[in-house]
Amino acid sequence: MKRTIYLILACLFILRVAQAQDSQAPDSAFIEKMAQQEGQAWLKKAQFQENVGYQDYDLHFVRTNWTVDPAIRAISGDIQFHIKALSTPLSSMELDLQNNLVIDSIRMQASSFTWTHEDNKIKINFENPIAVNESAIIKIAYHGVPSSTGFGSFKTTQTPDGTPILWTLSEPYGAKEWWPCKQSLVDKVDSIEINVICPEGYRVASNGKLISRVTENGKVQTKWKHNYPIATYLVAIAVTDYATDEVYLKQENDSIQILNYVYPSYLEKAKTKTADMLNIMELLNELIGQYPFADEKYGHAQFGWAGGMEHQTMSFMYHLDFELVAHEMAHQWFGDCITLGSWQDIWLNEGFATYLTGLCYENLLNGAYWELWKKNQISRITTSPMGSVFVKDTTQISTLFSSRLSYSKGAYLLHMLRWELGDEAFFKALKNYFNDPALKYGFARNQDFVTHLEAAADTSLTEFFNDWYYGAGYPSYVLHHYTDYSDNGKQLLTVNQTTSDSSVDFFEMHLPVQVWKDGQSKLLRLHHTVNPQSFILDERPDSIDFDPDLWLITKGSVTMSTNQLTAQMLKLYPNPVVDQLVIEPKPNERIVSVRISNSLGRLIAVPELYHNQLDLSQLTPGHYFIQIKTNQNIYQQQFVKASL
Ligand SMILES: [Zn+2]
Repeated sequence: MKRTIYLILACLFILRVAQAQDSQAPDSAFIEKMAQQEGQAWLKKAQFQENVGYQDYDLHFVRTNWTVDPAIRAISGDIQFHIKALSTPLSSMELDLQNNLVIDSIRMQASSFTWTHEDNKIKINFENPIAVNESAIIKIAYHGVPSSTGFGSFKTTQTPDGTPILWTLSEPYGAKEWWPCKQSLVDKVDSIEINVICPEGYRVASNGKLISRVTENGKVQTKWKHNYPIATYLVAIAVTDYATDEVYLKQENDSIQILNYVYPSYLEKAKTKTADMLNIMELLNELIGQYPFADEKYGHAQFGWAGGMEHQTMSFMYHLDFELVAHEMAHQWFGDCITLGSWQDIWLNEGFATYLTGLCYENLLNGAYWELWKKNQISRITTSPMGSVFVKDTTQISTLFSSRLSYSKGAYLLHMLRWELGDEAFFKALKNYFNDPALKYGFARNQDFVTHLEAAADTSLTEFFNDWYYGAGYPSYVLHHYTDYSDNGKQLLTVNQTTSDSSVDFFEMHLPVQVWKDGQSKLLRLHHTVNPQSFILDERPDSIDFDPDLWLITKGSVTMSTNQLTAQMLKLYPNPVVDQLVIEPKPNERIVSVRISNSLGRLIAVPELYHNQLDLSQLTPGHYFIQIKTNQNIYQQQFVKASL
């Protein structure tokens, strides 16, 4: 009886541990799901035509006053826009607002104007143009029932507890479906104040710092203030009967608040996740630089969309599992603080968020899932031999916004850059890129990042980016170790690569090769610059492992050693050979036939011998296997054909 109870308890414990681990482990389908959700949004972004007139004015402050009730699908509000005219005197300006929302009034101090609301745009014509660098305040009052398109930019439904919930998810261009705004990827609002009135009993989650929450006459008025530039699609509210939990990441002089708004029934579970959140935040601060909104907060608000959305300082989350928390938090640095300047460089958001999640697996949870995470990425990347990380073409949705390229291969490009440049230069470049005042809180292009990498490592990365970013595919390697008896028993390691896509004929890389001797190993870093290439080893190894730590994107690479055959080998020389290869048979042996195979084992020639010599002048340079049949034995050997 005791034993049974003990077993049941043990099972329960294992089950609990297993569940706890599951919510932290990398999910092999996670990136696919993420990419599918985010990719749809990116596609819309890529196809969106921004208003031409948007370049004529800068939006420097927005104050919103919204009234909502999660039980009723409707919104009313008034929005203040503080604008500044740019290059030309501003005679008119445009904003976006879906036609089905009704404008109650537009007001502006000290200026006469007319306005129209057509084609989902508000156009305001000023009687007296606003002079360059002069500011103006425009107030727009509106109301209506937001339409529901895409992800549901304005969603009302119920939580699993049966409570009404309302959330917004504007990415990429759904904001105009619920508020008048400047939907821009080139102008962030410099700061924003968000005021929301809702019925008592609800709590409002939003961007920035919670300034006040006042209950009066059955209504709650909540004020959030965000003092950093923010792209329109990252402005969001979520309203339900949230339970709240907060923890603080202690820092030298200060602390960063992590604020969780979750369904009451999820609160206990959420509390078990806060240790991971603090660890992730601390790690990203250390690896990249201080969380860019540290004096406000970072938060999570639970919502019903099965995924996550990196709303600035308040990610909306389906759950709080490790991988999703890491991905959305990483976006605060790359995506929110530094936003990609062109959708072609989508990897600057997604490859980075994915790699930062990988770094969390490397450095946290005792590194238990790091290898699994790397294997997941490599196997996803190499499911197809084609496709570049750089987005060439908007029309091929499935390949462009793919989890394989923008997320996994983008992440692995960073991992390979780290291997090529070394940890010190790589992380220095990452920090410098993030802290570049020209980019921080603004926008970046791929070249901005490359410039920081090249400066930190004092090297050119043109070839790396041509091959790995603009080019497609990956290399497969054959490493062949053998003893060269024609040259005093020299230990040689010959390396050959084939590429999976014709856009790149050779990937110049440093190869991690681990050689073992008497139970000891050392990691060699072989600079592979030409095909084939022979490296001399100090001594004869017991075994060789290629890329044991998974630094490179490669598939089907093999290492071979022919030590076991050496005693019986025939002498072949010269090796490498340029044209004439001599085969020296043993006494009393006569060569009957010779077959030559390439490095992948495919038969390519059955040449004729002339005085025990082969004419190989027509053979393409490379690494070859040769089978030599004599009247007594069959020998399997190899040689390298060198170019002239
Ligand atoms: Zn993402």
